[in-house]
Amino acid sequence: MISLKNIHKSFNDKEILKGIDLTVQDGTTTVIIGPSGSGKSTLLRCINLLETPEIGEVTINQVGYNAKHLKKKDYLDVRQATAFVFQNYGLFENKTILENVSIGLSVVQKKTKQEAHRIAQEALEKVGLYDKKDQYPRQLSGGQQQRVAIARALALHPQVILFDEPTSALDPELVGEVLKVIKEISDEHTTMIIVTHEMEFANQIGDQIVFMEDGQIVEEGSAKDIFETPKKERTKKFLARYR
Ligand code: ADP
Ligand code: MG
Repeated sequence: MISLKNIHKSFNDKEILKGIDLTVQDGTTTVIIGPSGSGKSTLLRCINLLETPEIGEVTINQVGYNAKHLKKKDYLDVRQATAFVFQNYGLFENKTILENVSIGLSVVQKKTKQEAHRIAQEALEKVGLYDKKDQYPRQLSGGQQQRVAIARALALHPQVILFDEPTSALDPELVGEVLKVIKEISDEHTTMIIVTHEMEFANQIGDQIVFMEDGQIVEEGSAKDIFETPKKERTKKFLARYR
């Protein structure tokens, strides 16, 4: 289980996260929706301590990391327990697809090269890109590159995979293949937190939907609760834009 307790984060004296509480059960998919600038990316980045909150506690696998007393090792531990899929894939251009997926396994997880390659190949098979393993990122479409980034995250077998708008940099015709892969992983009960503006996808995939606005969670519930019977005016208004 992942839990966040009273997370506060400011940039330049402006409070961006105003006390976020959230629990994500193991094996479930949580989707965060909300307007641009509401703090969704900042929240994801606080979960893996890419950003350090001023106040609050992140709990991963029963270990609590309190913002007030974080040690260097805590950052390493949290990074190891999580994987991040970015909007712009974040692949190494000068490394092959196989190297891109295996590098974390050998460098961070200290697996032998042989073992790292075996796990990486398995992950590439899962996203349907095993045949591209010896190519370079520039030889792949954006959708394929993002599937490689997803394979890289999967290969690490983290406690949770964090996705920040994984399809928003893609041409519309490439969005579907990436959503399909994410859906398949979700169906296998990988713990995931996804920020997305793809509402139909959110509805299909989300065990829990969280609507954020202005640094706060306005409303959360099942996909049915949020998309069919939202209770808060702000949620209704936001969703109306997608109808
Ligand atoms: P969202 O992902 O919901 O669009 P963000 O978390 O990216 O929102 O940003 C929320 C607010 O925090 C925005 O006003 C943004 O400008 C600000 N912000 C985010 N990161 C930084 C940063 N590193 N330095 C200063 N301001 C930031
Ligand atoms: Mg964002």
